[in-house]
Amino acid sequence: MALIVQKYGGTSVGSPERIMAVAEKVKRFRAAGHDMVVVVSAMSGETDRLIKLAKSVHAEPPARELDVAIATGEQVTIALLSMALEKIGCPARSYTGSQVHILTDNAYGKARILKIDETRMRDDLQQGRVVVVAGFQGVDEHGNITTLGRGGSDTTGVALAAALKADECQIYTDVDGVYTTDPRVVPQARRLDKITFEEMLEMASLGSKVLQIRSVEFAGKYKVPLRVLSSFEEGPGTLITYEENEMEAPLISGIAFNRDEAKITIRGVPDKPGIAAQILGDIGKGNINVDMIVQNVGADGTTDFTFTVHRADYKKALDILQRVAKDLKAREVTGDDKIVKISVVGVGMRSHAGIASQMFKTLADEGINIQMISTSEIKISVVVDEKYLELAVRALHSAFGLDKAPAA
Ligand code: ADP
Ligand code: ASP
Ligand code: MG
Repeated sequence: MALIVQKYGGTSVGSPERIMAVAEKVKRFRAAGHDMVVVVSAMSGETDRLIKLAKSVHAEPPARELDVAIATGEQVTIALLSMALEKIGCPARSYTGSQVHILTDNAYGKARILKIDETRMRDDLQQGRVVVVAGFQGVDEHGNITTLGRGGSDTTGVALAAALKADECQIYTDVDGVYTTDPRVVPQARRLDKITFEEMLEMASLGSKVLQIRSVEFAGKYKVPLRVLSSFEEGPGTLITYEENEMEAPLISGIAFNRDEAKITIRGVPDKPGIAAQILGDIGKGNINVDMIVQNVGADGTTDFTFTVHRADYKKALDILQRVAKDLKAREVTGDDKIVKISVVGVGMRSHAGIASQMFKTLADEGINIQMISTSEIKISVVVDEKYLELAVRALHSAFGLDKAPAA
């Protein structure tokens, strides 16, 4: 008998029939003697619908009120799932984030979980009830409703598993595990039986949305046994592991990509101390996160500086830079929001040379120009024109031997 936390994503609870199917699945685990805590997302499309609705009233909705609105999606599904469980004879209770005291900071729209009070959930479990908790939401110290950022129900699931010291946290979704790359883009992608925590962290941060990055961070901090599985078919899914055996590690485990990137270049800035700090300082003050940064070697006492930001921040960053450029008497500011970032990830890279050159050669053979490059110990990222996304990911997937064997 174990304590299991399960999280079901939007597609998995996307219709009354699917909610009934989730209830049946939970009941089977309960019948096997396990204590069950279940986290659910809003029905698929619901969060987008609520955001659109809010924006139809106010183009830039006040952050506090937007969170009140979008947190309602999950409140509906917890009630429906609890009803479904009751209907099939499985006692259950639903709770919003604030009812189980998922305490967060007050950063609306991207709040961080600080603390969870487990007493109420423990009581219910003791009484033999299934505990159903709304994902994606919490409450700050003043009782304001907060949300955890898109995909945040994953983080609720993992955080509850950490707080309750669950034996396993199971993330049920519309694919049957973590793949070598997004199976919707590369049909040859393979499911991984396991992936190291570090690789999962890189994959999530580089754009693979199968797990929200914060959920992976949480899992690592508390060593939560974490598995990604399909809601719709039986199978082992993918286990996130915490030990690694580099001897056995494949060179490359996966390929991640991010479509939400834009780049900005400021040309002809004085090549002297303090310039990077000034450019990025103003961008930071505008609350814009910078990802990759490249500065050219100076010539004639001036240099060029390029960096990437989230596409949603592109216009704002461009405006700020125009102003900075005037101050610095820079030659010009240019930008491009039709770019993507593609990354190859693998702990095996640590002990092998030549991955970067193989990556660049593969792209060159396809006639794809690389605009920016950045590397870390276990990943190499490049920025390319967005029109090459599919071609580049497929070519790399095959070049690094990740394609599954064709069906016989
Ligand atoms: P949920 O609603 O269950 O949270 P998401 O849409 O957030 O589901 O995440 C699942 C999706 O993540 C899959 O449908 C898939 O298209 C996408 N995805 C991206 N990269 C990967 C990957 N490496 N492995 C598996 N799925 C991936
Ligand atoms: N419903 C939220 C979203 O669509 C949270 C989640 O699904 O994880 O982002
Ligand atoms: Mg998700």
